[in-house]
Amino acid sequence: MSTTRYIFVTGGVTSSLGKGIISASLAKLLQSRGYTVTIQKLDPYLNVDPGTLNPYEHGECFVTDDGAETDLDLGHYERFLNVPTSQANNVTTGSIYKSVIEKERRGDFLGKTVQIIPHITDEIKRRIKLLGTKYKYDFVITEIGGTVGDIESLPYIESVRQLKWELGHNALVIHLTLVPYLKASGELKTKPTQHSVKTLLEAGVQPDILVLRTERELSDELRAKVALFCNVNINAVIQSIDVCTIYEVPIKMQEEKLDIRVLEKFGLPINKEPDLKSWKDFLKKFKHPEQTVDIALVGKYVELQDAYKSIAESFVHAGAVNNCKVNLHWIHSENINKNNFQEILGTMKGILVAPGFGHRGMEGKILAVKYARENNIPFFGVCLGMQCAVIEFARNVLGMEKANSSEMDEKTPFPVIDIMEEQKNILEKGGTMRLGSYPCRLTKKSKSFEAYGEEMIQERHRHRYEFNNKYLEEFKNAGMVPVGINPETNLVEIVEIPSHKWFVGVQFHPEYRSTVINPHPLFISFIKATLE
Ligand code: GLN
Repeated sequence: MSTTRYIFVTGGVTSSLGKGIISASLAKLLQSRGYTVTIQKLDPYLNVDPGTLNPYEHGECFVTDDGAETDLDLGHYERFLNVPTSQANNVTTGSIYKSVIEKERRGDFLGKTVQIIPHITDEIKRRIKLLGTKYKYDFVITEIGGTVGDIESLPYIESVRQLKWELGHNALVIHLTLVPYLKASGELKTKPTQHSVKTLLEAGVQPDILVLRTERELSDELRAKVALFCNVNINAVIQSIDVCTIYEVPIKMQEEKLDIRVLEKFGLPINKEPDLKSWKDFLKKFKHPEQTVDIALVGKYVELQDAYKSIAESFVHAGAVNNCKVNLHWIHSENINKNNFQEILGTMKGILVAPGFGHRGMEGKILAVKYARENNIPFFGVCLGMQCAVIEFARNVLGMEKANSSEMDEKTPFPVIDIMEEQKNILEKGGTMRLGSYPCRLTKKSKSFEAYGEEMIQERHRHRYEFNNKYLEEFKNAGMVPVGINPETNLVEIVEIPSHKWFVGVQFHPEYRSTVINPHPLFISFIKATLE
Protein backbone atom coordinates (compact mmCIF):
# COMPACT_ATOMS: atom_id res chain seq x y z
CA MET A 1 0.00 0.00 0.00
CA SER A 2 1.58 3.30 -0.96
CA THR A 3 -0.41 5.52 1.41
CA THR A 4 -0.32 5.15 5.16
CA ARG A 5 -3.69 5.06 6.91
CA TYR A 6 -3.96 6.46 10.44
CA ILE A 7 -6.28 5.08 13.08
CA PHE A 8 -6.73 6.88 16.38
CA VAL A 9 -8.01 5.07 19.43
CA THR A 10 -9.47 7.24 22.18
CA GLY A 11 -11.14 6.21 25.41
CA GLY A 12 -14.11 7.48 27.36
CA VAL A 13 -16.03 6.97 30.63
CA THR A 14 -13.19 5.39 32.62
CA SER A 15 -9.57 4.46 32.24
CA SER A 16 -8.37 0.84 32.09
CA LEU A 17 -10.92 -0.22 29.48
CA GLY A 18 -8.22 -1.88 27.45
CA LYS A 19 -7.48 0.57 24.63
CA GLY A 20 -4.10 -1.09 24.26
CA ILE A 21 -5.62 -4.53 23.80
CA ILE A 22 -8.25 -3.26 21.34
CA SER A 23 -5.53 -1.47 19.37
CA ALA A 24 -3.33 -4.58 19.39
CA SER A 25 -6.25 -6.80 18.40
CA LEU A 26 -7.23 -4.62 15.46
CA ALA A 27 -3.58 -4.47 14.45
CA LYS A 28 -3.42 -8.26 14.61
CA LEU A 29 -6.44 -8.62 12.34
CA LEU A 30 -5.04 -6.16 9.79
CA GLN A 31 -1.64 -7.82 9.94
CA SER A 32 -3.27 -11.21 9.38
CA ARG A 33 -4.71 -9.80 6.18
CA GLY A 34 -1.22 -9.05 4.91
CA TYR A 35 -0.84 -5.40 5.90
CA THR A 36 2.08 -3.88 7.79
CA VAL A 37 0.90 -2.29 11.00
CA THR A 38 2.45 -0.49 13.93
CA ILE A 39 0.92 0.83 17.11
CA GLN A 40 1.93 3.95 18.95
CA LYS A 41 1.04 5.14 22.44
CA LEU A 42 0.70 8.79 23.36
CA ASP A 43 0.92 9.28 27.11
CA PRO A 44 -0.35 12.52 28.60
CA TYR A 45 2.06 12.85 31.53
CA LEU A 46 5.05 15.15 31.92
CA ASN A 47 7.73 12.54 32.53
CA VAL A 48 9.91 12.37 29.43
CA ASP A 49 9.55 8.60 29.56
CA PRO A 50 8.28 6.10 32.14
CA GLY A 51 11.85 4.97 32.94
CA THR A 52 12.00 7.08 36.06
CA LEU A 53 8.55 6.07 37.30
CA ASN A 54 8.11 3.73 40.22
CA PRO A 55 6.44 0.47 39.13
CA TYR A 56 3.73 1.12 41.73
CA GLU A 57 2.83 4.25 39.75
CA HIS A 58 2.91 2.89 36.29
CA GLY A 59 3.50 -0.85 36.18
CA GLU A 60 6.39 -2.32 34.25
CA CYS A 61 8.68 -0.22 32.14
CA PHE A 62 9.00 -1.95 28.76
CA VAL A 63 12.33 -1.68 26.94
CA THR A 64 12.60 -1.69 23.14
CA ASP A 65 15.49 -2.98 21.01
CA ASP A 66 16.72 0.56 20.44
CA GLY A 67 16.84 1.16 24.18
CA ALA A 68 13.73 3.25 24.77
CA GLU A 69 12.09 2.92 28.19
CA THR A 70 8.40 2.82 27.37
CA ASP A 71 4.84 2.19 28.49
CA LEU A 72 3.89 -1.42 29.14
CA ASP A 73 1.29 -1.29 26.36
CA LEU A 74 4.19 -1.52 23.90
CA GLY A 75 4.78 -4.96 25.34
CA HIS A 76 1.24 -5.95 24.34
CA TYR A 77 1.79 -4.54 20.86
CA GLU A 78 4.90 -6.67 20.42
CA ARG A 79 3.36 -9.77 21.96
CA PHE A 80 0.39 -9.53 19.59
CA LEU A 81 2.19 -8.50 16.41
CA ASN A 82 5.57 -10.19 16.87
CA VAL A 83 7.17 -7.05 15.38
CA PRO A 84 9.55 -4.93 17.45
CA THR A 85 8.57 -1.41 18.41
CA SER A 86 10.99 1.48 18.88
CA GLN A 87 11.48 4.85 20.54
CA ALA A 88 9.05 6.36 18.02
CA ASN A 89 6.21 4.17 19.29
CA ASN A 90 5.90 5.89 22.66
CA VAL A 91 5.42 9.62 23.04
CA THR A 92 4.82 11.46 26.30
CA THR A 93 3.78 15.05 26.89
CA GLY A 94 7.14 15.48 28.60
CA SER A 95 9.02 14.41 25.48
CA ILE A 96 6.89 16.70 23.29
CA TYR A 97 7.50 19.74 25.48
CA LYS A 98 11.17 18.86 25.77
CA SER A 99 11.69 18.98 22.01
CA VAL A 100 9.63 22.13 21.59
CA ILE A 101 11.50 23.91 24.38
CA GLU A 102 14.86 22.75 23.00
CA LYS A 103 13.89 24.20 19.61
CA GLU A 104 12.88 27.44 21.29
CA ARG A 105 16.25 27.66 23.07
CA ARG A 106 18.04 27.09 19.76
CA GLY A 107 16.10 30.00 18.29
CA ASP A 108 14.29 27.84 15.73
CA PHE A 109 11.03 29.76 16.15
CA LEU A 110 12.63 33.00 14.95
CA GLY A 111 11.25 35.22 17.69
CA LYS A 112 7.67 33.99 17.49
CA THR A 113 5.55 33.32 20.58
CA VAL A 114 5.62 29.57 21.25
CA GLN A 115 2.15 28.19 21.99
CA ILE A 116 0.27 24.96 22.62
CA ILE A 117 -1.50 25.48 19.31
CA PRO A 118 0.23 25.27 16.87
CA HIS A 119 3.67 24.41 18.27
CA ILE A 120 2.83 21.59 20.68
CA THR A 121 0.16 20.16 18.40
CA ASP A 122 2.56 20.37 15.41
CA GLU A 123 5.13 18.36 17.33
CA ILE A 124 2.48 15.78 18.30
CA LYS A 125 1.38 15.50 14.67
CA ARG A 126 4.99 15.19 13.51
CA ARG A 127 5.55 12.26 15.90
CA ILE A 128 2.38 10.53 14.70
CA LYS A 129 3.16 10.97 11.00
CA LEU A 130 6.80 9.97 11.44
CA LEU A 131 5.79 6.32 11.66
CA GLY A 132 4.09 6.61 8.28
CA THR A 133 6.62 8.75 6.46
CA LYS A 134 9.81 7.21 7.83
CA TYR A 135 8.83 3.58 8.34
CA LYS A 136 6.14 3.37 5.64
CA TYR A 137 3.64 1.22 7.53
CA ASP A 138 0.29 0.57 5.84
CA PHE A 139 -1.48 1.37 9.10
CA VAL A 140 -0.40 3.43 12.06
CA ILE A 141 -2.67 2.90 15.04
CA THR A 142 -2.23 5.64 17.62
CA GLU A 143 -3.59 5.03 21.08
CA ILE A 144 -4.27 8.21 23.05
CA GLY A 145 -3.64 7.57 26.74
CA GLY A 146 -6.11 8.83 29.35
CA THR A 147 -9.82 9.52 29.00
CA VAL A 148 -11.49 12.19 26.84
CA GLY A 149 -12.30 15.22 28.91
CA ASP A 150 -9.03 15.04 30.88
CA ILE A 151 -7.30 18.41 30.86
CA GLU A 152 -3.96 16.82 30.10
CA SER A 153 -5.20 14.97 26.99
CA LEU A 154 -6.57 18.10 25.29
CA PRO A 155 -3.58 18.83 23.01
CA TYR A 156 -3.67 15.21 21.81
CA ILE A 157 -7.38 15.32 21.00
CA GLU A 158 -6.85 18.66 19.26
CA SER A 159 -4.06 17.08 17.19
CA VAL A 160 -6.40 14.25 16.23
CA ARG A 161 -8.97 16.82 15.14
CA GLN A 162 -6.41 18.60 12.97
CA LEU A 163 -5.05 15.37 11.50
CA LYS A 164 -8.52 14.08 10.67
CA TRP A 165 -9.05 17.26 8.72
CA GLU A 166 -5.65 17.13 7.01
CA LEU A 167 -5.64 13.45 6.19
CA GLY A 168 -9.29 13.19 5.17
CA HIS A 169 -10.13 9.65 4.07
CA ASN A 170 -6.84 8.35 5.37
CA ALA A 171 -7.71 8.81 9.04
CA LEU A 172 -10.36 7.46 11.32
CA VAL A 173 -11.20 7.51 15.00
CA ILE A 174 -12.26 4.58 17.14
CA HIS A 175 -13.68 5.53 20.51
CA LEU A 176 -13.74 2.94 23.28
CA THR A 177 -16.26 3.35 26.09
CA LEU A 178 -17.96 1.40 28.84
CA VAL A 179 -21.58 0.28 28.95
CA PRO A 180 -22.14 -0.44 32.63
CA TYR A 181 -24.66 -3.01 33.85
CA LEU A 182 -26.85 -1.81 36.70
CA LYS A 183 -27.76 -4.78 38.80
CA ALA A 184 -30.61 -3.08 40.65
CA SER A 185 -32.53 -2.28 37.46
CA GLY A 186 -31.12 -5.20 35.47
CA GLU A 187 -30.10 -2.87 32.63
CA LEU A 188 -27.13 -1.95 30.50
CA LYS A 189 -26.74 1.82 30.38
CA THR A 190 -25.68 3.86 27.36
CA LYS A 191 -25.71 7.35 28.87
CA PRO A 192 -22.03 7.42 29.85
CA THR A 193 -21.18 6.54 26.22
CA GLN A 194 -23.43 9.29 24.89
CA HIS A 195 -21.78 11.79 27.20
CA SER A 196 -18.29 10.78 26.37
CA VAL A 197 -18.99 11.00 22.63
CA LYS A 198 -20.43 14.48 23.29
CA THR A 199 -17.20 15.45 25.00
CA LEU A 200 -15.29 14.26 21.95
CA LEU A 201 -17.65 16.21 19.68
CA GLU A 202 -17.10 19.36 21.72
CA ALA A 203 -13.44 19.00 20.82
CA GLY A 204 -14.46 18.72 17.17
CA VAL A 205 -13.87 15.01 16.77
CA GLN A 206 -16.57 12.72 15.41
CA PRO A 207 -15.71 9.07 16.09
CA ASP A 208 -16.16 6.72 13.13
CA ILE A 209 -16.41 3.51 15.13
CA LEU A 210 -17.49 2.92 18.72
CA VAL A 211 -16.23 -0.05 20.68
CA LEU A 212 -18.36 -0.69 23.75
CA ARG A 213 -16.85 -2.59 26.60
CA THR A 214 -19.49 -4.61 28.41
CA GLU A 215 -19.94 -7.56 30.73
CA ARG A 216 -23.17 -8.66 28.97
CA GLU A 217 -24.27 -9.10 25.35
CA LEU A 218 -25.51 -5.89 23.76
CA SER A 219 -28.90 -6.10 22.07
CA ASP A 220 -29.58 -4.70 18.60
CA GLU A 221 -31.84 -2.10 20.20
CA LEU A 222 -29.07 -0.87 22.42
CA ARG A 223 -26.68 -0.68 19.49
CA ALA A 224 -29.28 1.24 17.49
CA LYS A 225 -29.76 3.68 20.34
CA VAL A 226 -26.03 4.35 20.64
CA ALA A 227 -25.77 4.75 16.86
CA LEU A 228 -28.61 7.27 16.85
CA PHE A 229 -27.23 9.40 19.66
CA CYS A 230 -23.64 9.31 18.50
CA ASN A 231 -23.90 9.76 14.69
CA VAL A 232 -22.41 6.43 13.74
CA ASN A 233 -23.71 3.62 11.61
CA ILE A 234 -25.26 0.79 13.63
CA ASN A 235 -22.75 -1.66 12.16
CA ALA A 236 -19.97 0.55 13.50
CA VAL A 237 -21.15 -0.04 17.07
CA ILE A 238 -18.87 -2.86 18.13
CA GLN A 239 -19.28 -4.94 21.24
CA SER A 240 -16.23 -5.79 23.32
CA ILE A 241 -17.43 -8.29 25.86
CA ASP A 242 -15.32 -9.38 28.86
CA VAL A 243 -13.28 -12.48 28.08
CA CYS A 244 -11.10 -14.71 30.21
CA THR A 245 -7.88 -13.86 28.38
CA ILE A 246 -6.65 -10.84 26.44
CA TYR A 247 -5.57 -13.22 23.66
CA GLU A 248 -9.24 -13.94 22.93
CA VAL A 249 -9.92 -10.30 22.03
CA PRO A 250 -8.70 -10.45 18.37
CA ILE A 251 -11.09 -13.35 17.80
CA LYS A 252 -13.97 -11.42 19.37
CA MET A 253 -13.12 -8.34 17.31
CA GLN A 254 -13.10 -10.46 14.18
CA GLU A 255 -16.55 -11.82 15.07
CA GLU A 256 -17.72 -8.23 15.47
CA LYS A 257 -16.10 -7.34 12.09
CA LEU A 258 -14.02 -4.50 13.49
CA ASP A 259 -11.37 -5.06 10.79
CA ILE A 260 -13.98 -5.07 8.02
CA ARG A 261 -15.50 -1.81 9.26
CA VAL A 262 -12.07 -0.22 9.23
CA LEU A 263 -11.27 -1.42 5.71
CA GLU A 264 -14.69 -0.26 4.47
CA LYS A 265 -14.16 3.21 5.92
CA PHE A 266 -10.83 3.46 4.14
CA GLY A 267 -12.32 2.13 0.93
CA LEU A 268 -9.94 -0.83 0.91
CA PRO A 269 -10.80 -4.24 -0.55
CA ILE A 270 -12.18 -6.96 1.72
CA ASN A 271 -11.19 -9.94 -0.31
CA LYS A 272 -9.94 -12.50 2.15
CA GLU A 273 -10.27 -13.62 5.72
CA PRO A 274 -7.46 -12.89 8.18
CA ASP A 275 -5.13 -15.85 8.62
CA LEU A 276 -5.26 -16.51 12.36
CA LYS A 277 -4.31 -20.18 12.34
CA SER A 278 -1.22 -20.00 14.54
CA TRP A 279 -3.00 -17.61 16.91
CA LYS A 280 -5.91 -20.02 17.28
CA ASP A 281 -3.53 -22.95 17.79
CA PHE A 282 -1.96 -21.06 20.66
CA LEU A 283 -5.35 -20.19 22.16
CA LYS A 284 -6.45 -23.81 22.02
CA LYS A 285 -3.37 -24.97 23.88
CA PHE A 286 -3.66 -22.14 26.36
CA LYS A 287 -7.30 -22.86 27.13
CA HIS A 288 -6.95 -26.62 27.38
CA PRO A 289 -3.69 -27.33 29.21
CA GLU A 290 -2.82 -30.93 29.95
CA GLN A 291 -1.31 -30.08 33.31
CA THR A 292 -0.51 -27.23 35.65
CA VAL A 293 2.72 -26.32 37.39
CA ASP A 294 3.33 -24.10 40.42
CA ILE A 295 6.05 -21.52 39.95
CA ALA A 296 7.02 -18.78 42.39
CA LEU A 297 7.64 -15.28 41.14
CA VAL A 298 9.63 -13.63 43.90
CA GLY A 299 9.70 -9.85 43.74
CA LYS A 300 8.99 -6.75 45.73
CA TYR A 301 6.22 -5.23 43.62
CA VAL A 302 3.94 -8.28 43.64
CA GLU A 303 0.94 -6.32 44.98
CA LEU A 304 0.76 -4.79 41.52
CA GLN A 305 0.94 -7.56 38.95
CA ASP A 306 1.39 -5.04 36.13
CA ALA A 307 4.88 -4.49 37.51
CA TYR A 308 5.90 -7.88 36.11
CA LYS A 309 3.59 -7.90 33.09
CA SER A 310 6.05 -9.22 30.51
CA ILE A 311 7.27 -12.00 32.80
CA ALA A 312 3.71 -13.15 33.49
CA GLU A 313 2.89 -13.12 29.76
CA SER A 314 6.11 -14.99 28.93
CA PHE A 315 4.88 -17.78 31.20
CA VAL A 316 1.58 -17.83 29.32
CA HIS A 317 3.31 -18.15 25.92
CA ALA A 318 5.90 -20.70 27.03
CA GLY A 319 3.35 -22.62 29.10
CA ALA A 320 1.25 -23.24 25.97
CA VAL A 321 4.31 -24.65 24.18
CA ASN A 322 4.66 -27.12 27.05
CA ASN A 323 0.91 -27.86 27.01
CA CYS A 324 0.72 -26.61 30.53
CA LYS A 325 -0.70 -23.78 32.56
CA VAL A 326 1.72 -22.02 34.85
CA ASN A 327 0.19 -21.27 38.21
CA LEU A 328 2.21 -18.22 39.15
CA HIS A 329 2.52 -17.61 42.89
CA TRP A 330 3.31 -13.95 43.46
CA ILE A 331 5.56 -13.93 46.50
CA HIS A 332 6.64 -10.76 48.24
CA SER A 333 10.37 -10.98 48.85
CA GLU A 334 10.03 -8.88 52.01
CA ASN A 335 7.87 -11.62 53.50
CA ILE A 336 10.50 -14.34 53.07
CA ASN A 337 12.76 -14.90 56.05
CA LYS A 338 14.94 -17.57 57.62
CA ASN A 339 12.01 -19.06 59.53
CA ASN A 340 9.44 -19.36 56.79
CA PHE A 341 11.15 -19.80 53.41
CA GLN A 342 10.61 -23.55 53.44
CA GLU A 343 6.94 -23.16 54.19
CA ILE A 344 6.47 -20.48 51.53
CA LEU A 345 8.50 -22.11 48.77
CA GLY A 346 8.13 -25.79 49.71
CA THR A 347 5.48 -26.70 47.13
CA MET A 348 6.98 -24.76 44.24
CA LYS A 349 8.28 -26.63 41.19
CA GLY A 350 10.30 -23.64 40.03
CA ILE A 351 11.42 -20.26 41.35
CA LEU A 352 11.94 -17.06 39.38
CA VAL A 353 13.57 -14.11 41.10
CA ALA A 354 12.47 -10.89 39.44
CA PRO A 355 14.26 -7.74 38.29
CA GLY A 356 14.37 -4.71 40.55
CA PHE A 357 16.25 -1.82 42.08
CA GLY A 358 17.35 -0.92 45.59
CA HIS A 359 17.92 -2.98 48.71
CA ARG A 360 14.31 -3.47 49.85
CA GLY A 361 13.41 -7.16 49.78
CA MET A 362 16.93 -8.24 48.77
CA GLU A 363 17.53 -10.67 51.61
CA GLY A 364 14.27 -12.52 50.87
CA LYS A 365 15.30 -12.88 47.25
CA ILE A 366 18.70 -14.23 48.26
CA LEU A 367 17.04 -16.76 50.57
CA ALA A 368 14.81 -17.88 47.69
CA VAL A 369 17.89 -18.44 45.51
CA LYS A 370 19.57 -20.41 48.28
CA TYR A 371 16.54 -22.62 48.69
CA ALA A 372 16.35 -23.31 44.93
CA ARG A 373 20.08 -23.97 44.65
CA GLU A 374 20.34 -26.29 47.64
CA ASN A 375 17.21 -28.26 46.79
CA ASN A 376 17.82 -28.66 43.07
CA ILE A 377 14.64 -26.71 42.23
CA PRO A 378 14.69 -25.10 38.76
CA PHE A 379 15.74 -21.49 39.21
CA PHE A 380 15.52 -18.56 36.83
CA GLY A 381 17.10 -15.25 37.84
CA VAL A 382 16.26 -12.22 35.73
CA CYS A 383 18.49 -9.12 35.95
CA LEU A 384 18.50 -8.33 39.67
CA GLY A 385 17.43 -11.98 40.09
CA MET A 386 20.68 -13.07 38.42
CA GLN A 387 22.64 -10.65 40.59
CA CYS A 388 21.00 -12.18 43.69
CA ALA A 389 22.11 -15.63 42.49
CA VAL A 390 25.70 -14.40 42.22
CA ILE A 391 25.59 -12.81 45.67
CA GLU A 392 24.07 -15.91 47.23
CA PHE A 393 26.74 -18.12 45.67
CA ALA A 394 29.51 -15.82 46.88
CA ARG A 395 28.16 -15.79 50.43
CA ASN A 396 27.21 -19.42 50.86
CA VAL A 397 29.56 -21.32 48.56
CA LEU A 398 32.63 -19.11 48.30
CA GLY A 399 32.46 -18.08 51.94
CA MET A 400 32.40 -14.35 51.22
CA GLU A 401 29.98 -13.68 54.02
CA LYS A 402 29.39 -9.99 53.37
CA ALA A 403 29.34 -10.24 49.58
CA ASN A 404 26.86 -7.90 47.94
CA SER A 405 26.14 -5.65 45.01
CA SER A 406 27.65 -2.20 45.45
CA GLU A 407 24.14 -0.93 44.66
CA MET A 408 22.95 -2.37 47.99
CA ASP A 409 26.09 -1.90 50.07
CA GLU A 410 28.67 0.56 48.81
CA LYS A 411 31.22 -0.62 51.36
CA THR A 412 30.91 -4.37 50.86
CA PRO A 413 34.33 -6.11 51.04
CA PHE A 414 33.22 -8.39 48.18
CA PRO A 415 31.46 -6.37 45.46
CA VAL A 416 30.69 -9.42 43.32
CA ILE A 417 28.16 -7.24 41.52
CA ASP A 418 29.57 -3.81 40.81
CA ILE A 419 28.70 -0.67 38.92
CA MET A 420 29.71 -0.81 35.25
CA GLU A 421 32.71 1.31 34.30
CA GLU A 422 30.68 3.42 31.83
CA GLN A 423 28.10 4.17 34.56
CA LYS A 424 30.51 5.55 37.13
CA ASN A 425 30.29 9.20 36.16
CA ILE A 426 26.61 9.32 35.28
CA LEU A 427 24.55 11.51 37.60
CA GLU A 428 21.28 11.92 35.71
CA LYS A 429 18.74 9.16 36.22
CA GLY A 430 16.57 9.41 33.08
CA GLY A 431 17.48 7.15 30.16
CA THR A 432 21.06 6.60 31.30
CA MET A 433 21.17 2.90 32.15
CA ARG A 434 22.67 0.28 29.82
CA LEU A 435 19.55 -0.01 27.69
CA GLY A 436 18.36 -2.00 24.72
CA SER A 437 19.68 -4.88 22.65
CA TYR A 438 23.23 -6.17 22.93
CA PRO A 439 24.80 -9.32 21.51
CA CYS A 440 25.81 -12.25 23.67
CA ARG A 441 27.87 -15.32 22.78
CA LEU A 442 26.83 -18.60 24.37
CA THR A 443 29.04 -21.47 25.51
CA LYS A 444 28.04 -24.56 23.58
CA LYS A 445 27.80 -26.85 26.58
CA SER A 446 25.09 -25.04 28.50
CA LYS A 447 21.37 -25.10 29.24
CA SER A 448 21.09 -21.73 27.55
CA PHE A 449 22.67 -22.91 24.32
CA GLU A 450 20.42 -25.97 24.35
CA ALA A 451 17.41 -23.67 24.70
CA TYR A 452 18.37 -21.10 22.06
CA GLY A 453 19.94 -23.55 19.63
CA GLU A 454 22.34 -20.87 18.43
CA GLU A 455 25.59 -19.35 19.56
CA MET A 456 24.97 -15.65 19.05
CA ILE A 457 21.89 -14.10 20.59
CA GLN A 458 20.57 -10.56 21.07
CA GLU A 459 18.74 -9.59 24.24
CA ARG A 460 17.47 -6.36 25.80
CA HIS A 461 18.97 -4.79 28.88
CA ARG A 462 18.15 -2.29 31.60
CA HIS A 463 20.78 -2.07 34.33
CA ARG A 464 23.73 -0.20 35.82
CA TYR A 465 25.38 -2.99 37.79
CA GLU A 466 27.08 -6.10 36.52
CA PHE A 467 28.97 -9.26 37.45
CA ASN A 468 32.42 -8.24 38.68
CA ASN A 469 34.93 -10.07 36.45
CA LYS A 470 37.57 -9.83 39.18
CA TYR A 471 35.87 -12.85 40.81
CA LEU A 472 35.30 -14.83 37.62
CA GLU A 473 37.87 -17.59 38.23
CA GLU A 474 36.71 -18.20 41.80
CA PHE A 475 33.12 -18.61 40.66
CA LYS A 476 34.06 -20.90 37.79
CA ASN A 477 36.19 -23.11 39.98
CA ALA A 478 33.41 -23.47 42.53
CA GLY A 479 30.76 -24.38 39.95
CA MET A 480 28.94 -21.21 38.91
CA VAL A 481 29.89 -20.67 35.29
CA PRO A 482 29.45 -17.72 32.94
CA VAL A 483 27.94 -19.23 29.79
CA GLY A 484 26.92 -16.05 28.01
CA ILE A 485 29.37 -13.19 27.42
CA ASN A 486 29.10 -9.96 25.52
CA PRO A 487 31.71 -10.44 22.77
CA GLU A 488 32.71 -6.76 22.68
CA THR A 489 32.91 -5.83 26.34
CA ASN A 490 33.32 -9.20 28.07
CA LEU A 491 30.40 -8.44 30.39
CA VAL A 492 28.90 -11.59 31.88
CA GLU A 493 25.34 -11.94 30.59
CA ILE A 494 24.41 -15.44 31.78
CA VAL A 495 25.54 -17.62 34.70
CA GLU A 496 24.62 -21.26 35.20
CA ILE A 497 25.34 -23.99 37.73
CA PRO A 498 25.93 -27.04 35.48
CA SER A 499 25.58 -29.53 38.36
CA HIS A 500 22.08 -28.23 39.15
CA LYS A 501 18.90 -29.44 37.42
CA TRP A 502 18.22 -26.01 35.87
CA PHE A 503 19.86 -22.94 37.35
CA VAL A 504 20.11 -19.98 34.97
CA GLY A 505 20.63 -16.32 35.79
CA VAL A 506 20.47 -13.73 33.03
CA GLN A 507 21.59 -10.11 33.25
CA PHE A 508 19.22 -9.19 30.42
CA HIS A 509 15.41 -9.24 30.21
CA PRO A 510 14.27 -12.22 28.12
CA GLU A 511 10.64 -11.39 28.96
CA TYR A 512 10.67 -8.37 26.63
CA ARG A 513 11.15 -10.62 23.65
CA SER A 514 8.51 -13.27 24.27
CA THR A 515 5.52 -13.14 21.92
CA VAL A 516 2.54 -15.40 21.22
CA ILE A 517 4.08 -16.60 17.95
CA ASN A 518 7.62 -16.62 19.30
CA PRO A 519 7.67 -17.70 22.97
CA HIS A 520 11.05 -17.19 24.61
CA PRO A 521 13.37 -20.24 24.52
CA LEU A 522 14.59 -19.76 28.10
CA PHE A 523 11.05 -19.62 29.49
CA ILE A 524 10.15 -22.72 27.46
CA SER A 525 13.21 -24.54 28.79
CA PHE A 526 12.63 -23.40 32.39
CA ILE A 527 9.03 -24.61 32.40
CA LYS A 528 10.11 -27.89 30.82
CA ALA A 529 12.58 -28.39 33.65
CA THR A 530 9.88 -27.74 36.25
CA LEU A 531 7.74 -30.47 34.68
CA GLU A 532 10.44 -33.13 34.72
N1 GLN B 1 19.35 -2.83 40.00
C1 GLN B 1 20.11 -3.65 39.12
C2 GLN B 1 21.02 -2.87 38.20
O1 GLN B 1 20.82 -1.71 37.97
C3 GLN B 1 19.21 -4.58 38.32
C4 GLN B 1 18.30 -3.88 37.37
C5 GLN B 1 17.15 -4.71 36.89
O2 GLN B 1 16.76 -5.71 37.52
N2 GLN B 1 16.53 -4.31 35.82
O3 GLN B 1 21.95 -3.41 37.67
